Amino acid sequence: MTDSTHTEPSLVQSPARKGYVYIAGAGPGDPELLTLKADRALREADVILFDDLVLPQMLEPYRAEKIYTGKRKDSHHFEQEEINQEIVRHALMGRTVVRLKGGDPFIFGRGGEEIDTLRQHGIEYEIIPGITAAHGASAYTEIPLTMRKVSSSVAFCTGHPISKIQAPDTDTIVYYMVASSVHDVLDAVAAKGRSGETMVAVVQNATRYNQKIFTGTLDEFRKRDRAVYSPALLIIGDSISQFIESNWYSRKKKVLMTGEAPKKYTPADYITVPFPCQQVAGADLGAVKASIEGIDQFSVLFFQNRFAVRYFFKYLFEHGRDVRHLAHLTICASNRSAATELQEHGIIADCRLEAETPTSIGEMLRNQGLTGQRILLPGAEHVDELVAGQLREGGNQVTPLVVYAHGAQDHVEAIDLDFIDEIYFASAECVQKFREMYESIPSRITITPADERTAEEVRTQFGG
Ligand code: SAH
Repeated sequence: MTDSTHTEPSLVQSPARKGYVYIAGAGPGDPELLTLKADRALREADVILFDDLVLPQMLEPYRAEKIYTGKRKDSHHFEQEEINQEIVRHALMGRTVVRLKGGDPFIFGRGGEEIDTLRQHGIEYEIIPGITAAHGASAYTEIPLTMRKVSSSVAFCTGHPISKIQAPDTDTIVYYMVASSVHDVLDAVAAKGRSGETMVAVVQNATRYNQKIFTGTLDEFRKRDRAVYSPALLIIGDSISQFIESNWYSRKKKVLMTGEAPKKYTPADYITVPFPCQQVAGADLGAVKASIEGIDQFSVLFFQNRFAVRYFFKYLFEHGRDVRHLAHLTICASNRSAATELQEHGIIADCRLEAETPTSIGEMLRNQGLTGQRILLPGAEHVDELVAGQLREGGNQVTPLVVYAHGAQDHVEAIDLDFIDEIYFASAECVQKFREMYESIPSRITITPADERTAEEVRTQFGG
């Protein structure tokens, strides 16, 4: 104890590092409208939690685990509270998390609620703005939101819920969330005494290949009953000109790109719409069958989330087995929702955690005396090495088992061919994959096969 000024790096282990969260905006759809900063955060991320409005194709370049938190039908459905908990869970594991939202996180984006939760848990975060739908729609339809002599003020409002509809006195009003309330919004605006001649535009899928615009006057719109599909904005104001339907964006050629795009399709001249033609990842059915039939070789079943539980049991039943075949196993859940889902399948977890931290799983196993075990770890295709590493402590053997796809790939959206001018086929396999989804190709669409073999396959599949 002589040299107290000596400054060797401390060997004392620092307390478990808490992760870092970026609440980021993805912009309205066109992938090039992502900011450089959001791109940097996405490259750093270990986990990306993304919304309905974020196109999965935007996430392809990033190596992170991608978790869809939207509300699309037939998909895993997350409530806001659950999303907050999921962000916290990953951050407490020491991960870098990007919570990616359509548009801007602070414009009808519930970003405020998410940072409240982060503050409560003492998790560090930052916020990255995004291009909000109103700005995207404005630029891609040539509707200036302000304009000298025509519009000197603009308001962003919501059309949902109907009880919250307001009609402020600004020259331009942009309404979000209007798919089911166009008429209520227009009634509210008319009730404020706006002239029936005021211009109105509905912009669906702004900045995307399938952007669609309807325009007319307030009176015309109130008489019409036209279906509006989400996502859509309603813009009211006299800076809308009659000519916006032939705007610069609508004049660009839209090419459906199966497989990789050749160089000639530069973003300056073309809007390319990806059509992934590789197989969509999902459960590894061979491994699932082998693990279920060989379940006696395992001594521990470890579930990291409720989807792992749900899909594991789905396959268990499909293979003609039930909980009785699991009687010899120690069954663990690494959080509350996995434990609850287990209960719904008739099982009370032998061990469970309230919250995962970088060391809590290892501790839990040690407390249970679980060493030298053979652990089956059902989950998504992305094996969580942090968790697997902890499970391996104490000489345990871990076998990951893919029971579901939880990545960007699990929802390939159907492309609306009405908006497509050209289809590029990269290979015969891509033609076949395309044929699985589309019976025919409208004759106005130009077909560009990569080579003769691909051209031959087009003729075989689609004739002509
Ligand atoms: N935070 C988002 C808005 C989320 S609320 C933003 O800043 O843009 C969801 C609403 O946003 C949708 O109902 C729709 O009104 C609007 N929206 C989002 N993306 C859109 C798009 N590409 N085209 C038209 N409207 C869009």
